[in-house]
Amino acid sequence: MEQVYIGLGSNLRDPEQQLNAALHALAQLPHTRLVAVSAYYSSAPLGPADQPRYTNAAAHLETTLEPHILLDHLQAIELNQGRERKAERWGPRTLDLDILIFGERIMNDERLCIPHYHMHARPFVLLPLAELCPVDFQLPDGRLLTDLLSACPVDPTLQR
Ligand code: ATP
Ligand code: CA
Ligand code: CA
Ligand code: CA
Ligand code: CA
Repeated sequence: MEQVYIGLGSNLRDPEQQLNAALHALAQLPHTRLVAVSAYYSSAPLGPADQPRYTNAAAHLETTLEPHILLDHLQAIELNQGRERKAERWGPRTLDLDILIFGERIMNDERLCIPHYHMHARPFVLLPLAELCPVDFQLPDGRLLTDLLSACPVDPTLQR
């Protein structure tokens, strides 16, 4: 069993319902248990500003799926909830599911960068994640989650 943390985000078509539906789908994944879910957070968009606010959360899974298989499932859930892939980076979306942490694994290939490459700079990722992890949680590369949190820029738009 691997301890996996997923970041969830949505800013289209009733974001809270999108996250509820995504969590339901995560709980149905084969060889996987949904252990815990953070509170929902709201914040101003990253990237293009002409889009609605985001709702974000984090989920803790236990799984025996391999990372790329899990990613296949996450992308299927995104598509099932109407995710359209556009050229614009960080544009609006019904659902985004990112693998933040996958046990002790460090990966960097064409499809997967784990731990997620930009989580250290994103309060809307770190705050929900911190709800689910032990206080002394260490990333596989040795960084302490608490250090990432203190170094992370403050987002005045973020609301729990
Ligand atoms: P960002 O990655 O900056 O949060 P994004 O989530 O909007 O941006 P997407 O368009 O959802 O980016 O994903 C682009 C690609 O990122 C995916 O096709 C996937 O292969 C890749 N990817 C790399 N690392 C991860 C990861 N840890 N979790 C999910 N997808 C990842
Ligand atoms: Ca763990
Ligand atoms: Ca735009
Ligand atoms: Ca993302
Ligand atoms: Ca993504």
